[in-house]
Amino acid sequence: MRSENLNPLFASIQSLPSVGAKRARLIAKALAGRGAEPGAPRVVDLLWHLPFSVIDRRKRPHVAALSPGEYATLALTVAHHEPPRAPNRPYRVRCHDDTGEIALVFFKAEPRYLLRILPVGEKRYVSGRVDSFQGTLQIVHPEYVLDEAGLKDLPLVEPVYHLTAGLSGKVLGAVIREAVSRVPELPDWIDAEMRAARAWPDFGEALRRIHTPEQPGDIAALAPPVERLAYDELLAGQLVLALVRAQLKRGRGRSVTGDGSIRTRIRAALPFSLTASQETALDEIAADMAARERMLRLLQGDVGSGKTVVALLAMALAAEAGHQSALMAPTEILARQHFATIAPLAEAAGLSAALLTGREKGRAREDVLKRLALGDLSILVGTHALFQAEVEFKDLALAVIDEQHRFGVHQRLALTTKNSHGVDLLVMTATPIPRTLVLTYFGDMDVSRLVEKPAGRQPIDTRVAPLTRLGEVVARLGRAIDEGARVYWVCPLVEESDVLDVTPAETRFAALKEAFGRRVGLVHGRLSGKDKDAAMAAFASGETAILVATTVIEVGVDVPEATIMVVEHAERFGLAQLHQLRGRVGRGRAPSSCVLLYKPPLSEPARARLKTLRESDDGFFIAEEDLRLRGEGEILGTRQSGAPGYRIARPEVHGGLLLAARKDVQLTLARDPQLLSSRGEALRTLLYLFSKDDAIRLIGAG
Ligand code: ADP
Ligand code: MG
Repeated sequence: MRSENLNPLFASIQSLPSVGAKRARLIAKALAGRGAEPGAPRVVDLLWHLPFSVIDRRKRPHVAALSPGEYATLALTVAHHEPPRAPNRPYRVRCHDDTGEIALVFFKAEPRYLLRILPVGEKRYVSGRVDSFQGTLQIVHPEYVLDEAGLKDLPLVEPVYHLTAGLSGKVLGAVIREAVSRVPELPDWIDAEMRAARAWPDFGEALRRIHTPEQPGDIAALAPPVERLAYDELLAGQLVLALVRAQLKRGRGRSVTGDGSIRTRIRAALPFSLTASQETALDEIAADMAARERMLRLLQGDVGSGKTVVALLAMALAAEAGHQSALMAPTEILARQHFATIAPLAEAAGLSAALLTGREKGRAREDVLKRLALGDLSILVGTHALFQAEVEFKDLALAVIDEQHRFGVHQRLALTTKNSHGVDLLVMTATPIPRTLVLTYFGDMDVSRLVEKPAGRQPIDTRVAPLTRLGEVVARLGRAIDEGARVYWVCPLVEESDVLDVTPAETRFAALKEAFGRRVGLVHGRLSGKDKDAAMAAFASGETAILVATTVIEVGVDVPEATIMVVEHAERFGLAQLHQLRGRVGRGRAPSSCVLLYKPPLSEPARARLKTLRESDDGFFIAEEDLRLRGEGEILGTRQSGAPGYRIARPEVHGGLLLAARKDVQLTLARDPQLLSSRGEALRTLLYLFSKDDAIRLIGAG
């Protein structure tokens, strides 16, 4: 049970005196843009809305010493009021100090109000951003106009928050400070020695220092109060992962072994033999499945390293034991692709497999569900539709999750409750995630890595060229497709956008069609599922030779005949994403190439990204570089997709803290697995504060 003194933090933000329904809606919007939990915000959610910058109002210069662009707090005498001469003109209040003059400028002002706050002849303290207009210094809409008595309320170092239209920084700041004032005294969940060694403030003090900073440095990522909260967040995250793992590993696993008969038939149907890493991964998986504990294994392999076959053979093993398997992909296209790969091989081995996504409806869907419940189906491939309660397996033994970082902990738990026997879990990720991120997002999973590319693969010739050479590239494509080549052409956006100045897929499609007619296809996220499939199928069969695409083809799509990848505006893509895209070619035996077209001038980070790609084809190396260059959120796409993201901690800055948190959790749980000690109690509070209530239920169930 959550202790009662936390209740004020878990009330709706409308319980704060200054927040009514309208303000609550605006605040919800501002918070949602920054990765807050979905739903109506509670007081606690405000605590994690950290300022991203500060305005330093400590400077008290004279007017003569001002320069445009700076924030300043001025002691001014009000000289006279200048109401607007025409309706759309601003209201000016002329002021001065001993050294010079400055105007305060207000648009759509209420004259009576201005006369009240700025009485002629009086002295006022005015704080705002100084600029100059037609040679005169001015402050447009000063943020503070205070008299001598009010000066003590001026925030000298004012935090700046992400806002939304209609919500001012002043209002949000005040609301957040109210929220912070509700934080009760709490026993610290961080070990006293560690806190002392790092000079970290306690939890409440850390929040106060960040939301009412005294120095601009107080909100820096490595400042003690921020580090402390980052550690809190990482600790909570690691604790959840460890508890989930403990739950998954707990007793109820079963030993799954097979006689190899189905696997032998599948291997015989494969047109290739497995690589050494595939064999090793399969041995590791078989050993896990045979053990009485549940399997919790991550299969990491660069794009094209052959993870699907490994998954299929693992599912075949489950089938030999008479059990069922599920393979879940993050997108419709990928689910279909997996199914297209798996179905013929499964059939050759006498295994029944079916597909279930949001698009399977009516009779067909009911039929799949019925066969699944009866145990007639051995393998079910699909999207997150597989999580739904109505999907009932007769006897699910193995869940394979592809591209798992797009799914959250909740979903992982949901799938593993589909069988009281405990389901073995194999997670496949095509993004070769660096070790620190594996820990952050997956916790302590066992890892198998596919380190080599299947035999016969040729390295991809990667070129970088400015968009001015587009004409040449198109001419070369023409020759290549005449010789039978198949080409992906990837564009960043679907629709015309002046703001971003990109040539979108539709425009590029139209232009290439002028040149190559019906041999050009188009696929993007706005197409209906059916049209997407049709476009992919036409390209796979060779009916179209050039497929213009947005990043819907990014993940996992497999057309071995494709040998040329053109990425337009490559400077707009992340490193890992470009590597993924490039991995769409070089999948067959023919030599492949990748052309990265950029719009000059290149920014320094973009140049570094393109250089890395030109020089390396090693996904693990590229992932480390990506982490170094861009930070974790963008590698995993978590910010966009709302996967278990971190709001305070940044692995590229706080990576060392992550390892400390992990060790901390291991030691603590070894001594106190149920979190019953006083430190354990404090850690439960931490979990509540970070809304990890699910994990607390896991301990309860122990
Ligand atoms: P990943 O999912 O790891 O990106 P896939 O499983 O889609 O890669 O495999 C990519 C391609 O390589 C597929 O066409 C697959 O049939 C083929 N493949 C897999 N393993 C081997 C192998 N050992 N030898 C040759 N080709 C392979
Ligand atoms: Mg794949």
